[in-house]
Amino acid sequence: MIRKFETKTNNEVAHSRVMGNGQGSSRAVYLDNAATTAVDPTVLEAMLPYFCEQFGNAASIGHDFGCQAQQAVQNARGQVAALLNVDPREIIFTSGATESNNLAIKGSVEKLREKGNHIITGVIEHKAVLDSCKYLETRGFEVTYLPVDSLGMLDLAQLEESITEKTLLISIMAANNEIGTINPIAEIGAIANRHKVLFHCDATQAVGKIPIDVQECGIDLLSLSGHKIYGPKGIGALFIRRGRPGNRPVPQMHGGGHENGYRSGTLNVPAIVGLGRACELCGEKMTGESERIGKLSQKLLRLLRENIDHIKINGHPENRLGSLLNITFEFVEGEGVMLAMPDVAVSSGSACTSATLEPSYVLRAMGIPDELAHGSLRFSLGRFNTEEEIDRAAQSVVRAVKKMRDLSPLYEEAVKSG
Ligand SMILES: *Cc1c(COP(=O)(O)O)cnc(C)c1O
Repeated sequence: MIRKFETKTNNEVAHSRVMGNGQGSSRAVYLDNAATTAVDPTVLEAMLPYFCEQFGNAASIGHDFGCQAQQAVQNARGQVAALLNVDPREIIFTSGATESNNLAIKGSVEKLREKGNHIITGVIEHKAVLDSCKYLETRGFEVTYLPVDSLGMLDLAQLEESITEKTLLISIMAANNEIGTINPIAEIGAIANRHKVLFHCDATQAVGKIPIDVQECGIDLLSLSGHKIYGPKGIGALFIRRGRPGNRPVPQMHGGGHENGYRSGTLNVPAIVGLGRACELCGEKMTGESERIGKLSQKLLRLLRENIDHIKINGHPENRLGSLLNITFEFVEGEGVMLAMPDVAVSSGSACTSATLEPSYVLRAMGIPDELAHGSLRFSLGRFNTEEEIDRAAQSVVRAVKKMRDLSPLYEEAVKSG
C-alpha cells in the first residue's frame, strides 16, 4: 500500500523520521536504551513550536513571548512533579542527571558543612555521583563507599552502622545503570530520616520504568534525566524537598538567579517542554509498557539460554529492571562479540567507560573475575523495540557468540572437559 506523504499526520511524519521511514527491519536493532533513548515523536511534536514561534525567554515576562515561554515551563514543571507525586515548586530544571547529581551532592554538603563532613554512597553508583564525592574528599569531606554483594546489593545494616554524628548526606541510586539492580529506596529513606541525614537518590534509570513515590520513600533530593526517558538530551531535573531543614543545596552555577536561585542560566524552554511531555508519557504508559518490555527481555534471555551454553546473568535475578539484561558469555570478549554483530547495538561494560579496556568497576565491585567481566554485554530494551527485533537480535547474538567461541581455545578446552 502506498500512502501519500500529505495524508500522514505530523506524528506519523515525526515517527517515520525517527524510525527510519518504515525501513526499520534493515536498521540495526537498538538495545542500548540505558545509554540513551530515541526521542518519542510526540515529545518532539510538543517541542517544535518553542524553537521558531514561541521562542521567548521565560524570564522576560514583560510581553507575550516571554509569558508563553514561562507558561510552557510551568506546565512542564507540573508534568515532572506529577510523575514523582511532588509539588511543582520542588522541581529545578538542570542540564541532565550529571548536573543534578553534582548540585545535590556538592551543594548540600556545602550548605551543611558546619554540621559535619561525612557522606555515604555506594561503590556502584554512577560516575557523576562517585566523582562528585571524590572531588569533595579533596575539599576536606570524608566519604564512605559502601560495598555490594555478588548480586550488586547493599547491606542496609552496614549502611546504618556507617552513619556518624558527622554524616550529612546519603546518596544511593534507585536502579543501577549497568546491571539494573533495584535498591530498597523506601528502607534507605527511612534510615536516613531516622538519623536526620539528607537522602539523595539518583533515579535516572528508574524514573518512568518503575513507580517511585518520593513521599513514601522519604527522598529529599532526586535526580532524573530527559534522554533516558524518551526526552531530549541536555535536560534533566532535580527534586528538592521543601520544608526539610537544611535541604537547600548551594548553587553551583551563579548568574541571573533562575530556578529560585538554585541554577542560573536562561531556561532551555524547548527541552524543558520535551522533558515535561516525556514524563507525562511515562506516567501514562508505565504499567503496560514495563510489562511489554519485561516480556520481550524474558524472551531474549530464553532464546539466548536455549542456544548458547555457559552464560551467566549479572545482577539480582528478580530485584532488577525488567528492561535490562547484563549477561556474561564465558570464554569470549564482549567487545569481540559486538564487532561480530554490527546489526545489534548493545554496550560492553558501561558506555561511559567502554572507551577504556578496564573491566567495568560495577562488575568488579560485585567480585566478578575480570575474565568474566570482559565477556559481558548489557542489553537494554525500550519503548520502540518490537518482538520481531528481539528475534532478529537473538539470532545475531547466537551467531556472533558461536563465531567467537569457534576461535577460542579456552572454550574448546571447557567443552572437552565437560
Ligand atoms: C545516564 C545516567 C546519568 C547521567 O545523566 P546525563 O543526563 O546523561 O548527565 C546519571 N546517573 C545514571 C544512573 C545514569 O544512568
